[in-house]
Amino acid sequence: MAKQQSLINFLKIMEGYTKDGYLKDNLVSNSEEEAPPLPLAYMLDEDEAPEEQYSLNNIAGEINSCDACSLSITRNRAVAGEGVNNPLLMVIGEGPGADEDKSGRPFVGRAGQLLDKMLISIGLSREENCFIANIVKCRPPLNRDPLEDEVTSCLPFLKRQITALNPKIILLAGRVAAKNLLNVSSALKDLRGSFHDYLGIPVLVTFHPSALLRDDSLKRPAWEDLKILKAKLEDMGHKLALL
Ligand code: URA
Repeated sequence: MAKQQSLINFLKIMEGYTKDGYLKDNLVSNSEEEAPPLPLAYMLDEDEAPEEQYSLNNIAGEINSCDACSLSITRNRAVAGEGVNNPLLMVIGEGPGADEDKSGRPFVGRAGQLLDKMLISIGLSREENCFIANIVKCRPPLNRDPLEDEVTSCLPFLKRQITALNPKIILLAGRVAAKNLLNVSSALKDLRGSFHDYLGIPVLVTFHPSALLRDDSLKRPAWEDLKILKAKLEDMGHKLALL
């Protein structure tokens, strides 16, 4: 009965979200054009002391001034991520959209508002016990998928953030996040439902909230993913308050 009520509450949360959020605009490939030479990918400074390499503030500072790839030319603001230190959950999305690029904060548009409500439905929030970040820290133009060289440049920031934060669980939202952190090419449907491992941290893969905004039929499986996540945290000894 309680389980049914949780699902009903979750589906209510989803109400009012129409299907036209965070759509990918048509991407025009410019791969035929001569590309400008790429700056060197960001590398960890081997002379920097570990405590400096893994300070969240230092990492955010480096992200804000990074010009390692061409996304730095088109961005308004880099989006380092936000939330608490040592979170129960680290959510990783794909990259900032228009609202995030304007505000410098992750997941604040319609997809982000939905993400917040989904987290709250299992007792989680960025204010209390989560950290939210992305694979790339600057907005890809027209919300296209980040290119390989952009991910290569940016991923060391995320990996340092994970080390600094030491989250209990990582939730990867969408195919781009799953592919790039887990280094796999499987379809999202094959990655969902069981835990993967990232350096000893359990990792769950789910739909990107923007996919839920477009397709109602994904809401129920997304709820199943959240239940798996909550059960795992509880198994690890973290009690979460229900909605
Ligand atoms: N989509 C993402 O993947 N990340 C954001 O921060 C916002 C939208």
